[in-house]
Amino acid sequence: MEKTDIKSLDLENLTSYMVSIGEKPFRAKQLYEWMHQKLAADFEEMTNLSRALKEKLQQSAAYTSLTVVEEKISAIDGTRKYLFGLSDGNVIESVLMRYKHGNSVCISSQVGCRMGCRFCASTLDGLERNLLPSEMLDQIYRIQKMTGERVSNVVVMGSGEPLDNYDNLVRFIRLLTDENGLNISQRNITVSTCGIVPGILKLAEENLQITLALSLHAPNDQVRKSLMPVANRYPLEEVLSACRTYFEKTGRRLTFEYSLVRGVNDNLEEASALSALLKHHHGHVNLIPVNPIKERDYVQSEGQAIKAFKNLLEKNGINVTIRREMGRDINGACGQLRKSFLNAE
Ligand code: SAH
Repeated sequence: MEKTDIKSLDLENLTSYMVSIGEKPFRAKQLYEWMHQKLAADFEEMTNLSRALKEKLQQSAAYTSLTVVEEKISAIDGTRKYLFGLSDGNVIESVLMRYKHGNSVCISSQVGCRMGCRFCASTLDGLERNLLPSEMLDQIYRIQKMTGERVSNVVVMGSGEPLDNYDNLVRFIRLLTDENGLNISQRNITVSTCGIVPGILKLAEENLQITLALSLHAPNDQVRKSLMPVANRYPLEEVLSACRTYFEKTGRRLTFEYSLVRGVNDNLEEASALSALLKHHHGHVNLIPVNPIKERDYVQSEGQAIKAFKNLLEKNGINVTIRREMGRDINGACGQLRKSFLNAE
C-alpha cells in the first residue's frame, strides 16, 4: 500500500486520514500543528503524540522532510542558497534572500523543467518530476527552522514551471497561507509563469490574492519564440489577454519580467514596443540583467543599455524596476547550483 503524504493534506483531509487509521479527530489538529506551525522535522519531535500513534504513522504515512545537501552563503549580501535532497534521491534548490522588508524564499516547483527557455539552467536536462505540495512547503519550513528567522515572502521562481504542476501548486498555496499553519499572507506570495494560458485563466478563478509574474522577455512573438519555446504554443496576444483577465478577476496588479540579453531584446525599439504593448495593462516591469550560463552564449546587456531601456519605459509611463542581483558569488541564477552538483557527480 502506498503511504499517505500527510504533509500535503489540508486539515479536513488529515482528519479523515486520522479517523481512517482509527484515531480521534482532534489528533489531526495536533499533528497538523507539529507539521505546519512548529515545523517538526520528524515524528520524534512530536512530544504530545503517543509512541503507539507514532509507530502507526511510521507504517502508513510518508513524512516529507528535506535534507540539506549543500548550503552556500553569499559573502556579498548574506543570501543563502540551499541544495535540498528529496526522499527519492533527487535534489532541488531554494534561495533565502534577506531584505529590509523581511525574508523572502525562492522555491522550486518541479525537479528540472520542460519549458526549454534558452537562457535558463533549470531546463537543460528536461523535467524529472513534479514536486508535491509537501516538498514545496518544506523548502520554506526547513529554511525558517534552520535560520530561526520568520519567512514573510515566498516567490515561486526557482526551478520548474509552477503552472505545469497546477494542482500541487494551488494546494501548496492554500497550506502555506492557512491560519493554522505558517499563515503567510497571500499578498506576499508571487508565482512566476512562462505564460501557460489555460493555467493563468484557471488561477484567476481560485479566489486567491497572490501576485502573478509573467515571464515576458520580448515585445513580440518573433523574439519571444527565439528565447522561449512556449511562445510557439501561446502567442503574446493570448498570454496578455489572460493576464488582463487575471487582473480583472483578482484586482491584483501583475509583474512583467523581462530578462535583458545583449543584442537579442535590449534595444530601444524593443523598449518602445514593450511600452506600447503594456500601456493599458496593470502592472510593472521588472528588468533582469540576464545571468549568463556556461551552456549558452547569451551575454548580459551593458549597464548603459539597461539604463537607457529603463529610462525609455519610464518616459512612456511604465512602472519599471531593475532586479537587484542577489548572491551572485554562489550560483544565484535558477538551476545553476543543482546543475553544477549534477555535473560533478
Ligand atoms: N517557470 C517560471 C519560473 C522560472 S524562473 C517562469 O518561467 O516564469 C523566474 C524568472 O527567471 C523567469 O522570468 C525566468 O525566465 C528567469 N530566468 C531564468 N533563467 C534566467 C537567467 N539565466 N537570467 C535571467 N533570468 C532568468
